[in-house]
Amino acid sequence: MPERKLLDAIAAEILVCRKCELWKTRKNPVPGEGSPHSQIMFIGEAPGYWEDVKGKPFVGAAGKFLDTLLSEAALSRESVFIGNILKCRPPKNREPSRDEIETCTPYLNSQIRVIQPEFIVTLGNYSTAYIFSKVGLPFNGITRVHGKFHETSILDMQVTVFPTFHPAAGLYNARYKGLLQQDFQLLRQELVKHGCPKV
Ligand code: URA
Repeated sequence: MPERKLLDAIAAEILVCRKCELWKTRKNPVPGEGSPHSQIMFIGEAPGYWEDVKGKPFVGAAGKFLDTLLSEAALSRESVFIGNILKCRPPKNREPSRDEIETCTPYLNSQIRVIQPEFIVTLGNYSTAYIFSKVGLPFNGITRVHGKFHETSILDMQVTVFPTFHPAAGLYNARYKGLLQQDFQLLRQELVKHGCPKV
């Protein structure tokens, strides 16, 4: 089956998912969006207010900043895939629970299997902790690990993992904003070396 159809099938499952309690309070699930052939996948934490309203990832204030960071790295939303650890908004934007992460991440794993990205960029503590645990890297907080490339394998596929801060961290903190911009410049340079993105 073509990758687009496979991603649509995963999204269709997410739309009717009731595997945890979050379906009771969500307005819309947010499966993620972007190119099924993308070489670069960005993974955030969970939908917030506007993502829940619109059913799309990173469309609120943090999303606007992510758009700026993407364009500074010469990337468009259409050329990448943007997803989250949780597909439904936790009430009042509380942090994801361990159970919710365990229940929801099989959807993310399926999306990674379909897209087979060359790069996974983790945004913030939750997605970095999850991806690091899957690839066997020690995680001791995003401040310590951000901005480095890790050539590794995930789900039996070769991938480069690049952790950085969550864009929301850069909204009201100039230091994190600067570090995010630096990290996205490093990302840009590395992508150029690999001839990415091709789509
Ligand atoms: N924060 C996230 O982690 N993901 C979104 O989609 C929006 C805000």
